[in-house]
Amino acid sequence: MTVPTRLFVDGAWREPASAARVSLINPATEEKFVEVASAEVSDVNAAVESAQRAWESGWRDLAPGKRSEILFNVARALRENIERIAELETLNIGKPIADARDEAALGARVFEFYAGAVTMFGGQTIPVARGGFDFTMRQPMGVVACIVPWNFPFPIACWKSAPALAAGNCVVLKPASLSPLTALALAEVAHGAGLPSGVLQVLPGSGSAIGEALVTHPLIRKVSFTGSTSVGQRIMELASRDIKRVSLELGGKSPNIVFADSDWHRAAETSPMSVFANTGQDCCARSRMFVERPVFDRFVDAFIAATKKLIVGDPAKPETQIGPMVSASQRATVEEYLSDARGRRSKFACGGGRLSGKGYYLQPTVLLDVDTADRCWHEEIFGPVVCLAPFDDEAQMLREVNASPYGLSGSLWTNDLRRALRVARAVESGVLSVNSHSSVHVEAPFGGFKRSGLGRDLGMTAMEGYTELKNVYIAES
Ligand code: NAP
Ligand code: MG
Repeated sequence: MTVPTRLFVDGAWREPASAARVSLINPATEEKFVEVASAEVSDVNAAVESAQRAWESGWRDLAPGKRSEILFNVARALRENIERIAELETLNIGKPIADARDEAALGARVFEFYAGAVTMFGGQTIPVARGGFDFTMRQPMGVVACIVPWNFPFPIACWKSAPALAAGNCVVLKPASLSPLTALALAEVAHGAGLPSGVLQVLPGSGSAIGEALVTHPLIRKVSFTGSTSVGQRIMELASRDIKRVSLELGGKSPNIVFADSDWHRAAETSPMSVFANTGQDCCARSRMFVERPVFDRFVDAFIAATKKLIVGDPAKPETQIGPMVSASQRATVEEYLSDARGRRSKFACGGGRLSGKGYYLQPTVLLDVDTADRCWHEEIFGPVVCLAPFDDEAQMLREVNASPYGLSGSLWTNDLRRALRVARAVESGVLSVNSHSSVHVEAPFGGFKRSGLGRDLGMTAMEGYTELKNVYIAES
């Protein structure tokens, strides 16, 4: 398998202006396996200028049918490369190979959706009071910066760049320092499938060194970001200077609410993966469980039994469900939360430690008796840790659910239709699933309330977010 190691600018592999390189460590073995180029500010300038040229000289004005055809060709090429993309992701961040394959296919599916959307996307005609003819146009913005994290590197790179490209923009994509490989593979595959030079650039490099140069570059018209709330705040602050458009998908502390009338056995069996999948490094992780008192004890037993069955280990094995954490430092951060929980009166129902041997593994950990004032209860841990608590009263439970500064995702289990509607309306989150744990549908908007973000990824809503809306009025007399 060839591993991409350079910047992708203007349709070609480039060395960075400085010779800087960063070592990548396989989180399953703790071994260094490759060195990847790290961009600096002059590379940002070159990439943005090349994207601007590609935009002005063709991509902006390409007939929608032609743009659609190119994006379908990209999608097809991504499908042909699913295995390679999945293997790169597993090697790079320790994602279980079965999940990595699913996410590679999801990325291809995202390109298919937006390739189709290109020719079905447009404005409105509006009957205005003056008479005459009024219509809106959706116009591309220019060059868009997409800054993505390390937890779902490939699908997020696709669901930022595909709608931006489909809407007629060019893209500079900055992957996280920990996970540059599949973003680079995306550019290589897309270019090979006919995406013109300069339309998609990929700059591996450190967020603190080049992230701000990208966000503040005068030719960047929009920044689409997924990552931590603190960096999201910084990006919004920087973008405010030029009133740049931003969309932010940030952290979460999502609830998983189980009523006694539900099929709670199924909820107990499936809920461990709603928080432990991707080793808990998931902004949608259902990390706070609210279980109605009459079934609480039985639910906890079933939840722990299901957790103990999870296969934790080598991410290259097809049966593995939980791999290592992405890095030693991410594991250390989670361990600080665990030591905080130990210092209080929280009970460790299972997990809490490392696996023996190499790799940044941490056991799936179930905490009981966590006080709502404790950090583990209200902060995003971003690791394999869940807090379970009983509730007696629906209204009181909802107050606690909504006390979180986050509002990204969540699940609700009940067989009472009226309750499902009532609670779904009351939970302050951008995404909610009833009797399911799914958060992401390519066709539907995804994003958060409150400190979980601004704007939406996916669906037609995301594509609208990569355009300016223009209103044109034509007098008829
Ligand atoms: P992060 O710092 O927010 O990183 C996300 C992306 O932003 C990366 O590409 C990063 O580049 C870049 N970046 C960092 N500082 C920047 C700046 N000043 N300007 C522009 N871009 C910048 O996230 P992290 O440090 O990797 O993770 C920390 C915590 O964030 C996690 O523990 C978790 O709580 C949260 N998080 C949330 C999500 C999510 O899906 N919502 C994803 C990842 C992390 P570098 O990688 O080079 O720093
Ligand atoms: Mg950071």
